[in-house]
Amino acid sequence: MVLDDLGSSLRGTLSTLQGKSRLDEDDVEEVVKEIQRSLLQADVDVSLVMDLSDSIETRALEEEPPGGTSARDHVLKIVYEELVDLIGESTELPLEPQTILLAGLQGSGKTTSAAKMAWWFSKKGLRPAVIQTDTFRPGAYDQAEQMADRAEVEFYGDPDSDDPVEIAREGLEATADADVHIVDTAGRHALEDDLIAEIEEIDSVVDPDRSLLVLDAAIGQGAKEQASQFDDSIGIDGVVITKLDGTAKGGGALTAVNETDSSIAFLGTGETVQDIERFEPDGFISRLLG
Ligand code: GDP
Repeated sequence: MVLDDLGSSLRGTLSTLQGKSRLDEDDVEEVVKEIQRSLLQADVDVSLVMDLSDSIETRALEEEPPGGTSARDHVLKIVYEELVDLIGESTELPLEPQTILLAGLQGSGKTTSAAKMAWWFSKKGLRPAVIQTDTFRPGAYDQAEQMADRAEVEFYGDPDSDDPVEIAREGLEATADADVHIVDTAGRHALEDDLIAEIEEIDSVVDPDRSLLVLDAAIGQGAKEQASQFDDSIGIDGVVITKLDGTAKGGGALTAVNETDSSIAFLGTGETVQDIERFEPDGFISRLLG
């Protein structure tokens, strides 16, 4: 099981349970505290950590370990199941024509992720195009164009326009030959009303099959508000978590997934177009707890 790869403190706590066939309340409390510590350190939302640890505690005390299972393995299994239950499998992404809208704050990694995802779809044999509608951040157009170039995918943008909605409309027409359209949007430094208004307009023109929220792995406790606002305005179907090559553990993704009732689609693991992975729960869970 994935949890063999746990962080050292949790592993330490669990090893003291080695050989026990039943856990008493003190044992369970000890394990739950250690899990709370790991999840909070990984930036998982405080109330979510409390909910999770309550479920783990209740189950660990109430459920009988199946015959032959040690108490340690039983607790591990419960921890794993509760996290998988929350985080789920990766967002479903059929390999077929579709339009994907990216949302997120400035600097979260949208433009980079748009090119990465286009590269990913192209490797799967589809023909993606990136449409850059960010007229807000200076340099966004050039950066997007360069990255699409590196990904060797079609690109549309208009550096002379300040109308993102029009760019989105024209972009979809201009790239009609492509089968996967990835529409990048402008962010802001914070959740401002004009950002939400703009993305709602783009959303209505683009009519995406999927809207993905791009979050920096270091987002921490801010994930909750962002996720709920974007979800309220355009509906979030999945999360892309970027910069997992850094030290941040990406616990904000858990919060976002919980808040939007969605799942994680992709992980960004570097600055080049190839640095993208499909989400897979096991590795992510061991990272969270590690
Ligand atoms: P946007 O404002 O949301 O479009 O964000 P950008 O795509 O411009 O990304 C902001 C910065 O983060 C850029 O310097 C990117 O190179 C960097 N970045 C994006 N994704 C990753 C990642 O997965 N790993 C690392 N190390 N850097 C990333």
